[in-house]
Amino acid sequence: MKITNVRLGRISVPLRTPFKTALRTVDSVRDVIVEIHTDCGAVGYGEAPPTGAITGDTTGAIIGAIEDHIAKTILGREVEDFEPLIQSVQKCVVGNSSAKAAVDMALWDLYGQLYSIPVYKLLGGGRRQIVTDITISVNDPEVMAKDALLALDRGYDCLKIKVGVNPELDVARLAAVRKAVGREVVIRIDANQAWTPKQAVKILNRMQEQGLDIELVEQPVKAHDLEGLKYVTERSYVPVLADEAVFSAEDAMTILKMGAADLINIKLMKCGGIYNALKIVSAAEVYGVECMIGCMLEAKISVNAAVHLACAKGVITKVDLDGPVLCREDPVLGGAAFDERLITVCDAPGLGIRGIEAGKLVYLD
Ligand SMILES: [Mg+2]
Repeated sequence: MKITNVRLGRISVPLRTPFKTALRTVDSVRDVIVEIHTDCGAVGYGEAPPTGAITGDTTGAIIGAIEDHIAKTILGREVEDFEPLIQSVQKCVVGNSSAKAAVDMALWDLYGQLYSIPVYKLLGGGRRQIVTDITISVNDPEVMAKDALLALDRGYDCLKIKVGVNPELDVARLAAVRKAVGREVVIRIDANQAWTPKQAVKILNRMQEQGLDIELVEQPVKAHDLEGLKYVTERSYVPVLADEAVFSAEDAMTILKMGAADLINIKLMKCGGIYNALKIVSAAEVYGVECMIGCMLEAKISVNAAVHLACAKGVITKVDLDGPVLCREDPVLGGAAFDERLITVCDAPGLGIRGIEAGKLVYLD
């Protein structure tokens, strides 16, 4: 199976409602799609969202990294020669984790197709279903309480609440949501780096004192502030999950060695794809730390790749793969079935993506 062409395109999928965090507001998913073609007719699919505010990867940067560096490196190579191939994607250009993730997943897709096995089984996985939370955007407390109830109506029992815009309002936001949804629903929160370490401890402990029962907090402090993250982890009753602080496996090792967080959030777009995500998984297993698998605002191609990883690895105990269910439509054919909270992996070879609805993919060539 020889790689004969790398084609790029773009899709645009409207969101049900605007997505608001402490870092940005977005109203549609506009992602770069990668198709890797081979001499036997098999096509591998990948996807990368431009998340300049998080990864620094803009649309132009993703396209440039693939066209100018990655495509040239993989063209003409055999998929069978997988390890050197997948390593060269990581080595041929510095940074650009989203572009690398898109190509990495397309190559895993092809490798699975080559041996007629779904990728999650290739990775040793046995479970076929996982349960995702759903994100509630940051807004006024009443709006968030209403959004939380709408999520319950859709069948969700685990909510990820965005906080961090005007921190003085965050306790009120959570109190409104908890009051609306009752005691049974799991609530996790994501501050997206918005708090100072001392502010974080104060806010989190106030939430606990009010009995708001927070399962975990994501990235309370600035991404680079590992000492601050450790400060919060040591002083807060709420478990701390490192998200923006962990891009690479090296970042994960540093945090695990320091004991700077209780949990690690893996996202393919931060670490550069499945190959590197497996290293983070292994590091977490060694340290006995559980992982969450997350996504950016992504359509189904790239989230589907994360589903395969999650179904393969037991150390991934928390699933935040709500990209597709936040979208108003799904132009992607094949892949995992997203039935609100329940995600069922697809048993077709590779990643199981069959293509994109006619007219929805705009090729760049
Ligand atoms: Mg996060």
